[in-house]
Amino acid sequence: MKIEEVKSVTRDNRVAAHSHVKGLGLTQDGSAEEIGGGMVGQCEAREACGLVVDLINSKKMAGRGILLAGPPGTGKTALALSISLELGDKVPFCPIVASEVYSAEIKKTEVLMENFRRAIGIRIKEVKEVYEGEVTELTPIETENPHGGYGKTVSQLVLGLKTTKGSKSLKLDPTIYENIQKEKIQVGDVIYIEANNGAVKRVGRSDTFATEYDLEADEFVPVPKGDVHKKKDVVQDVTLYDLDMANAKPQGGSGEGLGLLSNLLKPKKTEITEKLRNEINKVVNRYIDQGTAELVPGVLFIDEVHMLDIECFTYLHRALESPISPIVVFATNRGVCQVRGTASSVGAKDGIMAPHGLPVDLLDRLMIIKTAMYNASELKEIIKLRAKAEGVDITQDAMDKVAQIGSKTSLRYSCQLLTPSKIIASANAKEQVDVDDVEEASELFMDSKKSANIFATMGNDHKF
Ligand code: ATP
Repeated sequence: MKIEEVKSVTRDNRVAAHSHVKGLGLTQDGSAEEIGGGMVGQCEAREACGLVVDLINSKKMAGRGILLAGPPGTGKTALALSISLELGDKVPFCPIVASEVYSAEIKKTEVLMENFRRAIGIRIKEVKEVYEGEVTELTPIETENPHGGYGKTVSQLVLGLKTTKGSKSLKLDPTIYENIQKEKIQVGDVIYIEANNGAVKRVGRSDTFATEYDLEADEFVPVPKGDVHKKKDVVQDVTLYDLDMANAKPQGGSGEGLGLLSNLLKPKKTEITEKLRNEINKVVNRYIDQGTAELVPGVLFIDEVHMLDIECFTYLHRALESPISPIVVFATNRGVCQVRGTASSVGAKDGIMAPHGLPVDLLDRLMIIKTAMYNASELKEIIKLRAKAEGVDITQDAMDKVAQIGSKTSLRYSCQLLTPSKIIASANAKEQVDVDDVEEASELFMDSKKSANIFATMGNDHKF
């Protein structure tokens, strides 16, 4: 199997609300600055997360996970993202909400497995080379036909080459031999060679070997004359899931012969089987052994973890112990509650009660970090950061107004008023958002308490 060249498909959209977050914002001694790395307050939790990063870096987190426990909107997602950012550039961050595992089509454990693989990065390192040389030897090595047939087959070709940098002896595989035969290359000819990590990919004469693949330009470009020894290090960051997707076969019929329609009808769904995953793992392991690839464990963030059930917990418990497990960060805003899937029937209250709805043996493996509500000045600083990230030019008074609304409602609600306020301001031909724009936006969009109160005063049986 060949691992196709792939583009990463990480879910950027969910991270957009945290675009102002750049890290944990800790000083050298691990203490949190009031504002740092795009994070505001929540200092104890940030320092605890800093310790977790140290544990991960010193490989002391194996088999363990993290649980962030605290009220909604207290930065649990932001902290998990910060951990991944602190772990390094291009470390995958995969946020999910526990209820995503419940689907009519896909098994719960399958969804978890898929997301585990989204959180495991692979850094593929390639050295691409193009060089020129004169052929000094061409010796096919023949072996008995491996399938028991008559005759012999060429299993390798030894190619001697004299380059400006000295002589080389290369062992080429049979497909390159076919290439050499087709182009009638002989001893004494000057040829070009393209190699990936020392393995020859393409040979040809200068006239036929006119182009090379330029990764930056993403197209074939002419091989520059006189520059016949080029070397380029190429690093590609993908996740195991990206590799699964790139190699999965589309399900269903081919839709061939339908012309334009086939593009519309082409099945988009792909099937990733256990067999395919094992194959990918094998290839990746080989790459790792050869030093061509490096494993980059990322962060899998599972919000509202109390929504998972006992089957999922059993799976997670085992998965945490796998040698290629990502760092799993759970989050919850629940105290003691029922572990889902342990009641005698749906809706029954006789299930196991446990802190955060997590089975105690799993809880035992978790390092619990609590997050606390923000005070008014912290809220204001966070809103300021969000306004900047969303490109909202806002007056000081209007900012105060948003913060005041935030302290009465929620941080998330107040942040969500920023862009609508900007739209209202520009509709009124203003460049800066002012207090009245914020007020108008907050009247148009209700916060959850206001909305619930309206219904409470109407009575629950109110019909529209
Ligand atoms: P929930 O429990 O609803 O999932 P949460 O605890 O995960 O909420 P976040 O989604 O992280 O909360 O926070 C809401 C918004 O506030 C996000 O845009 C987040 O980036 C921002 N935010 C929260 N805490 C901080 C902080 N301490 N510093 C900077 N930004 C923050």
